[in-house]
Amino acid sequence: MLILHQGHDCAYEIQCVLRLFVGEEKLTEVEEIPENAENFLITKAKQTENAWELQLIWGQNGVISEQNARIFPQNENPKGELEHQFGILIYEKLQRQTGITPPWGILTGVRPIKLFRQCVQQGMSEEQITAHFAQRQVSEKKIRLALETAKKQENILKTAIPESFSLYIAIPFCPSRCSYCSFVSHSVAQAGKLIQPYVQLLCEEIRATLQQAKHLGLRLTAIYMGGGTPTTLTAAQLRQIFGVIRENWDLRDVLEYTVEAGRPDTIDQDKLLAIKEAGVTRISINPQTLNDRVLALAGRKHSAQDVRDCYALARGLGFDNINMDLIAGLPGDTLESFRATLDELAAMEPENITVHSLAKKRASNMSEAAGGAREPKPAGRPEGVLGHGAAEMVDYAQQKLLLAGYSPYYLYRQRNTADNLENTGFARPGRESYYNVYIMEEVQTILACGAGAVTKLKAPNGSYLERIFNYKYPYEYISRFGDMLKRKERVAVFYEGDHTA
Ligand code: SF4
Repeated sequence: MLILHQGHDCAYEIQCVLRLFVGEEKLTEVEEIPENAENFLITKAKQTENAWELQLIWGQNGVISEQNARIFPQNENPKGELEHQFGILIYEKLQRQTGITPPWGILTGVRPIKLFRQCVQQGMSEEQITAHFAQRQVSEKKIRLALETAKKQENILKTAIPESFSLYIAIPFCPSRCSYCSFVSHSVAQAGKLIQPYVQLLCEEIRATLQQAKHLGLRLTAIYMGGGTPTTLTAAQLRQIFGVIRENWDLRDVLEYTVEAGRPDTIDQDKLLAIKEAGVTRISINPQTLNDRVLALAGRKHSAQDVRDCYALARGLGFDNINMDLIAGLPGDTLESFRATLDELAAMEPENITVHSLAKKRASNMSEAAGGAREPKPAGRPEGVLGHGAAEMVDYAQQKLLLAGYSPYYLYRQRNTADNLENTGFARPGRESYYNVYIMEEVQTILACGAGAVTKLKAPNGSYLERIFNYKYPYEYISRFGDMLKRKERVAVFYEGDHTA
């Protein structure tokens, strides 16, 4: 589709709303629509004395139609209001035309809960917030979910005091690659030789980071080791990293210490003991599904029984805060099999269950493989957006988990997600993960170590946020380690300056 914008700078937001309906269809911005063009969209905005006139002109297979709207902006800078109105016009037209009803309406950002919290901070009542998001076409179900989630976060947000920070440690290795994954993670077969030098330098970066934080008078509230799959490392390598953390920080005041054990095919008793001895308080054991056929299609090299065995082993060793991830919309999965997975997980009673909606990303094997595990495109669904009854699966998960005593406490969205859904973390009362809330709501500094890790500096008394990117791939991380540490000197400048320079 060709797109021409005139008289406004809302192109990005317009494209995001279009994507909800057209999936990966190519959208090309042009300066002129050729006479013979069949499929195009022209968006125009013109300011008059006290109003803005908006116009959308659609060309579809040779038929041209028009929509018009007039708005009277309340703000000096009307960009947000123009974006909103363009979004509504596009939504109304394409919703009717395609029959697709995106559950989050015209909200396209990854952090919808932030918007709900902003409304609370502005003093809006629950009814006003509901009306505000209903105007944005957000479904009643999602409004309730967001409100519930925002309430659950309140206590955790209070712990994100000024000068507090979390430490993130990236282990970008996995035993093999899952077909739906697009993280920068390297299989052991690909990158085995890099692992030990990587661990060596990672320890150096952690040491430097914690020493710098100490010097700046910061307070560590949560540690999160993620990936990849941290338990791809040997027990000795894990101990080496844990040792550096312990030597450089007194862990008594740390509220939460998580290690994503992740894939059951990487977990054994020795590694779990190393994790336990380090003082880790929370681990993840991620089944994704308990259907062996679906696991095989997803390229996971473990069985459902491996998940059950790992979970029993971890419980036996005394882990009392376990998260389990699952995915709605995996190829080959059905509503019935998803329900069976969820029912069994709920019966196992982990403290957290995180329900993801499958996001198909360009870098994944699922996208790369011709044929592969991919299912045919369902009729009426835009190319590139996967969906296998994911909406029903997510609905079932929410109902079942609420009944089983879990509550939603963090939520985010990704692009290209099955049925435009969300990922939601559920927890038993008082077992919500601090780190997940901090990172998702961007309320605290995250000092991040390892390849692909992104440090986020949050001004203690404001909304200013600055990011420092580490090199993405382990080989770059190793070969350019000195440059990268230099880059992180910015952390001290940030805290010692006015936080905005
Ligand atoms: S375990 Fe996670 S990070 Fe590793 S390949 Fe699978 S989805 Fe990607």
